Amino acid sequence: MRNIGVLASGSIAGRKRAALLLAGALVGALLTLSCLPGGSRTGQEGDSATSSPAPVLEIAAIPARAQPTPLLAPALEVGRDFLKALAEGRYSASWDLLAAASRQKWVDAEKYSAFLSRKFGPLKMALQAESPAPRQGWRDPETGMRYETAAFLSVRGAIGDRLGEALSLPPLVVVQEEGQWRVAGEGPAARRGPVFPLAQGETQSLAVPILVYHHVASTWPGDSGQRSITVLTGAFEQELAYLQGAGYRSVTLAELANALLYELPLPAKPVVIAFDDGYGDMFTDAFPTLQKYGFVGSFALPTGLIGGAGYLTWEQVKAMSDAGMEFVSHSVNHVGLHLVPEEQAISELRDSRAELEKHLQAPVQILVYPYGEPFANGSPEQQRAVIDLLRREGYALAVTNPLPGTPPVIAQRGDLPYQLQRINVSPGMSIDRFARRLQGTDVR
Ligand SMILES: [Zn+2]
Repeated sequence: MRNIGVLASGSIAGRKRAALLLAGALVGALLTLSCLPGGSRTGQEGDSATSSPAPVLEIAAIPARAQPTPLLAPALEVGRDFLKALAEGRYSASWDLLAAASRQKWVDAEKYSAFLSRKFGPLKMALQAESPAPRQGWRDPETGMRYETAAFLSVRGAIGDRLGEALSLPPLVVVQEEGQWRVAGEGPAARRGPVFPLAQGETQSLAVPILVYHHVASTWPGDSGQRSITVLTGAFEQELAYLQGAGYRSVTLAELANALLYELPLPAKPVVIAFDDGYGDMFTDAFPTLQKYGFVGSFALPTGLIGGAGYLTWEQVKAMSDAGMEFVSHSVNHVGLHLVPEEQAISELRDSRAELEKHLQAPVQILVYPYGEPFANGSPEQQRAVIDLLRREGYALAVTNPLPGTPPVIAQRGDLPYQLQRINVSPGMSIDRFARRLQGTDVR
C-alpha cells in the first residue's frame, strides 16, 4: 500500500474513490447517532453522501438556553449572526463580522468564501451559539493578537447528517475590537474545524512534509531504545531555525485535512511538525522551542498513558492546546490495531477520541497509527478492516509511520485520507540531510 509517488498539486486521481471512503465516515457517524433524538436516518452499508439527501433542519428547531448577562448579550448576538450567515451561505456577511487580524489568515474574502462554499455549501446546517463565557486578556493562538475582552460561545447543533452533539464543535470566540464585537475564532468554520463527507467527492493532493519526532530532550536517555527516538533539544532548535529561514510555515493536521478536502488555502511552504506518544519532554522541551519560533506542533496521544510517569499530564495538554498546539489520537493503549480483537480496536479508537474531546472541547477526527500499523506489517485485508473501523468511528484522516530505510514521501493524497505519510527525524541527523528529507529527496 506504500505505492505513492510524487504527485503534482491538484491531481484529481482517485477523487471518486475518496467520495466512497468519506461516505463511509458518514455511515459510521450515523450508526452512532441513530438512537439520538434528531438522528433522522439509520446507517447502512453502501449508503453514500451523493445518493442521500441531507435531512431538513431548521434553526428554530434548536432552542436557545439561558439568557446571557447584559454585558455579553451583544457578543452573543454577533456570534448568532455569524452562524446564521454561515448556515444560509451568506459568506460575505460572515466575512464582514471577522476581526481584522482573523481576516488575514484567510488571505482574502474570495478565498474565504470559496472554501466555505466548497465545505458547507452542499450541507444543511442548524447551529446555535450560547452560554457566552467572558475571557479577559485572550491571545488568539492562530494570529498572535491579544484582545482585552473576549467571549467564548459554545456551539450546538447539526451540520449535514452529523449531529453536533456527537461531534464536539469548536467554540466561537467573539472579541472586542475598537468598541465592536467581532469574530476571531470561527467555531465550525475555523481553518481547523471539523471535516464532513464530501458531496462532490473531489479531493486534491498536496506536497506537505509531515515530520515526526518522539523525544525532544536536553540530554541523551540511558536506555538505548529511547535514545534511538530522541532528538536533542539543541538539534531540534537548529531544525526549527532551518525551517523558519527556508520559509516554511507550520500547519496542523486538521488544516491539512481541510486543504485536501476543501482546498483551504495553505501557506506557500507548509510543514506539519508532529510528535508521537505524549512524553513529558513535549511540555518541557518541544513546546517552548516551538513557541520560540512561532510554530505549531501536532501531538499524537495514547490517552491511557497520559498522566502516568514520564508522560504529559492533562493540565499540560490543556495549556499547550490553549496556546494553539494540536492534539490527535494515538489510540488508548498504544496497540497495533490489527493485532487486537475487533472489540478492543473499536474501544481504542472510540475512547481515545472521547477522552481528547472531553479535555479539549474540540473535534478529534485524526489518528496516528501506533507503530504505523497495520501499514508496517499488516496484510491488505487487515489494512482494509482497520480503515473500515476508522470510518465507522468518525475518523477522517490517519497518518502512518515511515518504514525503516524507505525514502521520505511528502505528497499527501486526499483520495487516500487514511494513509498520510510522515518523515522520521532521526537522532544526530545533519541539517543537510534534514533539508533533503523535507524535500523528499533523501534516498537511502
Ligand atoms: Zn507511538
